[in-house]
Amino acid sequence: MEILSILFIVALLVSLVIQLWLSNRQTKAVLSHRTAVPNAFAEHITLEQHQKAADYTSAKLAVNKIELIYGAGLILIWTLGGGLNWVDMQIRSLAYNEIITGLLVIFGIMLISAIIDLPFTLYRTFKIEQRFGFNRMTAIQFIKDMLLQTMLTLILAVPLVSGILWLMQDASPLWWVYVWAVLLSFGLLVSWIFPTFIAPLFNKFTPLENAELRERITSLMDRCGFASNGIFIMDGSKRSSHGNAYFTGLGKNKRIVFFDTLLDTLNPDEVEAVLAHELGHFKHHHVRKGLILNAVITLLGLALLAWLIKQDAFYHALGVSHASTYMALILFSMVTPLFSIYLQPAMSYLSRKHEFEADDFAAQQSKPQTLIQALVKLYRDNANTLTPDPLYSAFHDSHPPAPVRVAHLSAKIN
Ligand SMILES: [Zn+2]
Repeated sequence: MEILSILFIVALLVSLVIQLWLSNRQTKAVLSHRTAVPNAFAEHITLEQHQKAADYTSAKLAVNKIELIYGAGLILIWTLGGGLNWVDMQIRSLAYNEIITGLLVIFGIMLISAIIDLPFTLYRTFKIEQRFGFNRMTAIQFIKDMLLQTMLTLILAVPLVSGILWLMQDASPLWWVYVWAVLLSFGLLVSWIFPTFIAPLFNKFTPLENAELRERITSLMDRCGFASNGIFIMDGSKRSSHGNAYFTGLGKNKRIVFFDTLLDTLNPDEVEAVLAHELGHFKHHHVRKGLILNAVITLLGLALLAWLIKQDAFYHALGVSHASTYMALILFSMVTPLFSIYLQPAMSYLSRKHEFEADDFAAQQSKPQTLIQALVKLYRDNANTLTPDPLYSAFHDSHPPAPVRVAHLSAKIN
């Protein structure tokens, strides 16, 4: 076996072991604190609710662990096991041109992967979410969503991937810079049309009618200089009882969206505090910073791909006999996660830093204790763990874990 194939297997195993080890730590931390509610939360969260959160968290981790092992096995079957090569040979034998062949191979493999992954999605939705009382999704709704997502993926991704394959095949030495420009423009376009054209395919958005709440929200947005294209309530309860709030869109096309489930639990003061947090992200330009960072990482990734695509060893070490632009794309997307995982702690750290900044902003605009109240209600209703493992959290958490976040806000109460 080639030395590069062995390195690939080692990288796959190391990334798998790291993730399993972190998950085990998290499960242990959560279960070992199962018997008592942490002091900071004892007034608002009952022992029963705390234990539900522990059981829910460990049930989700258990499925994730199986999926990690299963996923690593699949990557081996696709690559060294010859799966990709087999699909490629079948479609090449149809003798279409390079771009059509590429599209059929890429979407064929995406379809097979989605089907293989389906049992996990079903188990999560209809077993775990159901068992803990969060699932509102019916089987019909699930099938409708799947068909709609598949159609939307085809409508958006077929032109995009064709364009990328065409640029790659054209073999200008700077193809990767052109592909980068295409990807960025495409991403901006999708963000722009998302609130008005894509999100409404899946959910109903109704303008917020509660006059008192609207008044408060509008005055908060005016104070912050936030121009939005409306405040909407989304029927999130159609799929799940988990609650959330977010703003979407770009430029003048921005919208504030509250899940109906969130408005059911929070009082107007708390809604205002949650919105102030969201506006904190806007004030600190977190969306813009995220886009720039993403653009830089994408450019570096494409530069690396432009080099790899010319190395025969890249294909052979991964079980593919025939070098091609589309195979390079597929192999690259399968192999990069084994290495980009080492960037994850830094990315999570940056995201948590942004969350602290948004919380600080909310604490100034509303009251820190009001945001704490809202967060505690959300932790309780979403069965979030209050006792995470610090290492697991440093690696995976995009938001500061409950105890850290509440302590940070408590320090601001004067
Ligand atoms: Zn946030």
